[in-house]
Amino acid sequence: MLTLQLNKYKIICIVSMLALSAVQFFLLYKTYRLEDEHVYQAESGLIVQDYGKSIRNDKLFPGGEAIMNSYVYGNMDRLEQIYKTDRGRYDSLRLQLSQRIFAALRKANNMDSLLPAFVHKHKLKSKLDYALTIDLIELNFEGDSDVVLYDRRTDGPASGAIIGGKLRHFTPQNQIVHLTVSSDAAHSYRVTFNLYVDSATRQMDILTGMAPLFALSLLSIFAVILLFYLTYSKWVRQKKIADMKSDFINGITHEFHTPLSAIMVANKSLKTEGLLENKSKVGRLTDIIQRQSDRLKTLFEQVMNITSLQSLQLNRTGQSIGLLLDEIMLDYRLKLTDADVVLSFDHQAKQDLAEVDAFWFTTMVNNLLDNAIKYNRSPKKLITVKTGGDHRRLHLIIADNGVGIGEESRIYIFEKFYRGKENGVHSTGLGLGLYYVKLCVDAHRWSISVESEPGKGSRFMITIPL
Ligand code: ADP
Repeated sequence: MLTLQLNKYKIICIVSMLALSAVQFFLLYKTYRLEDEHVYQAESGLIVQDYGKSIRNDKLFPGGEAIMNSYVYGNMDRLEQIYKTDRGRYDSLRLQLSQRIFAALRKANNMDSLLPAFVHKHKLKSKLDYALTIDLIELNFEGDSDVVLYDRRTDGPASGAIIGGKLRHFTPQNQIVHLTVSSDAAHSYRVTFNLYVDSATRQMDILTGMAPLFALSLLSIFAVILLFYLTYSKWVRQKKIADMKSDFINGITHEFHTPLSAIMVANKSLKTEGLLENKSKVGRLTDIIQRQSDRLKTLFEQVMNITSLQSLQLNRTGQSIGLLLDEIMLDYRLKLTDADVVLSFDHQAKQDLAEVDAFWFTTMVNNLLDNAIKYNRSPKKLITVKTGGDHRRLHLIIADNGVGIGEESRIYIFEKFYRGKENGVHSTGLGLGLYYVKLCVDAHRWSISVESEPGKGSRFMITIPL
């Protein structure tokens, strides 16, 4: 149920994040396109103005008209005559002539010095490149108008004949002049030419200008992801705590019920007629009542303490951990009723004197031993208590061959009320055993780690600085 809800929540989060990112990306892209269209509008306006002035009554660049006139008018009669008599020859002649015109124009082109002058005058971006190109030259003969001398569409290159400049990337945005100069009179000509101006670093300039916008939108996306994550993990936590609390209530009902019924049954048996004479039977029954009342008392204490107990008040004394463990094991073996349990103790630590609260140390070891037996379905339950380490620290290891702890549970086992899901229906508990173990470890400033392989067993290790 919880996983289903979690998955739904995750899917909603991911889908809304994707939608949000797509909207952001779309907006950024639109902004980029807008910037791209407008970035040089002001600059190109100024250049167009100055360029227009400098070629007033001229073509391409100052002096361009004179060159074109001399070539076109100088050959006009011959061209007309050949055009009217031999089209094949006209075609080869026009190609030769147009190439000669372009070569002469290239040689005389003075835009290389003119453009920097405009740039300097208006304090514009200094890294501007340009290209001056011719699209079309047409001639008007007597009776024949618009006779092609050069047409980029048929003669190439597709960009037009390049007269000057280094710019090779032509777009509608960087085409700042597209001009056709013509006359209708016979024996005149018409020329269409372009001026493209652009910065070599145009895209980079736009992107740099948009950097704060990029940073802001990235930041907002991260902020939303973080917010999603925090809300999500908080929600998962709260859900877990709520589940654990309801498990706890179920557990507590069971835990209290078992000793209570045992006491009631024992008490009823005591009332059986003639039983009071049988001392040994009475002894056994009162023992049961004693043990179960002790258990009830401990359970009560656990539940009462749990609301106020956040850290322990320790009463530490210098103790030999080995001796302490010997006592604990002796007592533990006495109360062991399960014949299938093999409890071994291997004291390897050379130095074992530490400042310990004996009561809490005992509770801690008992809880770990209880769990090692409780969460164990092996026919022979092998529980090993071992010490080791060096002169600076002692390792206390409690290992079992029980059911093990799954990776996803391992991070929660020390939490208050947490009970593993894979325990099986018969295991009882309040989810407090390991919580107390952790409280004891923390209060002593020790550390605890757990290794486990589901199905094989678990190994708890407490490191005690000496
Ligand atoms: P409880 O035993 O009351 O459930 P604990 O705090 O002692 O509570 O343990 C929490 C959970 O950790 C248990 O429910 C169990 O799933 C898991 N666990 C603890 N010790 C072991 C162990 N030795 N082997 C397998 N699982 C364990």
